[in-house]
Amino acid sequence: MTNPLPVGATIGILGGGQLGRMLSVAASRLGFTTHIYEPGTNPPAGHVAAQVTTAPYDDLNALRAFADSVDVITYEFENIPTAALDLLETIRPVLPNRRALATSQDRITEKDFLTGLGLKCAPYANVETTADLQAAVETVGTPGILKTRRFGYDGKGQSRLKTAADAEQAWADLGQTPCVLEGFVDFSREISVIGARAQDGAVVCYDPGENVHRDGILHTTTIPANLSHAQQMDAVILTGQILNALDYVGVVGVELFVTPAGLLVNEIAPRVHNSGHWTQNGCTIDQFEQHIRAIAGWPLGDGQRHSDVVMTNLIGTEATDIQALTSDPGIGLHLYGKAEAKSGRKMGHINKLVR
Ligand code: AMP
Repeated sequence: MTNPLPVGATIGILGGGQLGRMLSVAASRLGFTTHIYEPGTNPPAGHVAAQVTTAPYDDLNALRAFADSVDVITYEFENIPTAALDLLETIRPVLPNRRALATSQDRITEKDFLTGLGLKCAPYANVETTADLQAAVETVGTPGILKTRRFGYDGKGQSRLKTAADAEQAWADLGQTPCVLEGFVDFSREISVIGARAQDGAVVCYDPGENVHRDGILHTTTIPANLSHAQQMDAVILTGQILNALDYVGVVGVELFVTPAGLLVNEIAPRVHNSGHWTQNGCTIDQFEQHIRAIAGWPLGDGQRHSDVVMTNLIGTEATDIQALTSDPGIGLHLYGKAEAKSGRKMGHINKLVR
């Protein structure tokens, strides 16, 4: 795609969760319409989209009709089945590209890619057999974390090893699926960089945010992260390196560990990211608009921050007391319109500006 998408064009979004919803709002602010493809009924993104297709990812007829009805396709999650992509790509551009998806779908492919670029990761080894597991424990050492190579999120698909004796049970707990054993990183903080790359190769990064997790789920992102100028530069430069190497178009989230030995890359999310939600109230151009601009072939916004921000996720019933959530009239409240407040479910977030 070389020409900028005209106002009135339709953007197809795979996945109808909160990220799809906020992408859809940003697209509509720029004069586009959106079409959401989502297997589940009543998706949060469907409330703010012109069209919704409710069908599974193996329904080739539904996928074909969806692709025919849009001008460009993007996604809010990285685990899109390969066969669905094979079909969609023959009909419309899918952005970010296939390589970005394939790289981030598999933790070994991802780490091989990152270390191939000269970036640092936790020590790691592939585990597909019992012999691999023994060898991995020897080379990586313990303590460590065994993670499924695919389909992990919010700390799911992970098992911690205190000693080598825990290895077999940990792998059994994960169903003996292909895994990566990672050495346990003694980090001082976790940060992430939200970056964007346009179709002409221009790169813009937001300032790194500092992330705190609770029960494996992101709890807060604080901007600015407590980093030296050099660490901040490193984080931004390595994000640009990743974007360029993948010939990436769109927004990426890069999660990093800060350690005495420098920054280690934990993982890459080829999409808008929870730790970038602060940009909605801290920047003129937020990550959602930035992503839509990129995939539409429009110039990027500058990513400048006008305020310091603390973003806090609202999980489960934390989003139900509207009186309490609105008690500070200066706080930006974002609710996802999900019907049921299940435990561990992301229901919304708040952005508190720290001027
Ligand atoms: P992930 O699903 O890979 O993002 O991991 C979820 C969380 O587990 C991270 O945000 C870290 O807090 C922690 N974690 C993941 N990998 C490691 C590691 N190799 N060493 C220490 N902590 C880790």
